[in-house]
Amino acid sequence: MSITIDTKKDPMGAAIAEYYAKGRAARLRVFSSQFYEDEIPVDTLFRTLEDMPPQEQEALRLCRGRVLDVGAGSGCHSLELMNRGMDVMAIDISTLSVDVMRQRGIDARVVDFFDKTFDEKFDTILMAMNGIGIVGKIERLPEFFMRLKQILAPGGQVLLDSSDIRYVFENEDGSFDINLAGAYYGEIDYRMQYRGVKGEPFDWLYIDFDTLSMYANEHGFLCEKCIDGEHYDYLARLAVGHK
Ligand code: SAH
Repeated sequence: MSITIDTKKDPMGAAIAEYYAKGRAARLRVFSSQFYEDEIPVDTLFRTLEDMPPQEQEALRLCRGRVLDVGAGSGCHSLELMNRGMDVMAIDISTLSVDVMRQRGIDARVVDFFDKTFDEKFDTILMAMNGIGIVGKIERLPEFFMRLKQILAPGGQVLLDSSDIRYVFENEDGSFDINLAGAYYGEIDYRMQYRGVKGEPFDWLYIDFDTLSMYANEHGFLCEKCIDGEHYDYLARLAVGHK
């Protein structure tokens, strides 16, 4: 099933569009049943190379060949790669965000990563800012790896960053409030709001490196950690192959 976000229910897209038009935006609010209310500073969605965390800078450095920027948002990574003369396509399920990316000169399309009818081939698939979050739940990882195999050119690579969010559940005495028999602790439900625009709830997956590596190997991918980030986060590189 392929999805696109209804423009009337697209808080992040609305925030990106307003920031692009006016150079400032209101608060992009984030709600979750598992966390306190939070917000995403909209200017960070328009970050330039200098403002990017080390794992994103490293991901950009490792990009080669034809690149697909998945869940590209405002297109900040695509733009940086274009500045370097690289061949980039950006996809996102937000029509508002894709409109902004096109105005910024990016070859952007409204495409759901999981849509099997999209089967162009890429040498690098870039998933920045916890881009693997779009998988939502662990149980959807097999579909994720299947899609990667479909759109990776021979010898291609996937660059993605994520975090081990177990620290969120850590108590002062070092113990964890994690139910080992329950769902994986990185499965988070979110809902966003921008001004009067409320989004539908969605699932977002944070995955620790060992768990990612285990599933990747199971599905025929090599998985290596490129670098650790500054806060339980990391950049990983996947490529088809066996250990
Ligand atoms: N990569 C950008 C934006 C991250 S926000 C950055 O680093 O700034 C995540 C983005 O993924 C949103 O723009 C959202 O619309 C998009 N997205 C969510 N599910 C998707 C899917 N199935 N296919 C493509 N894009 C998706």
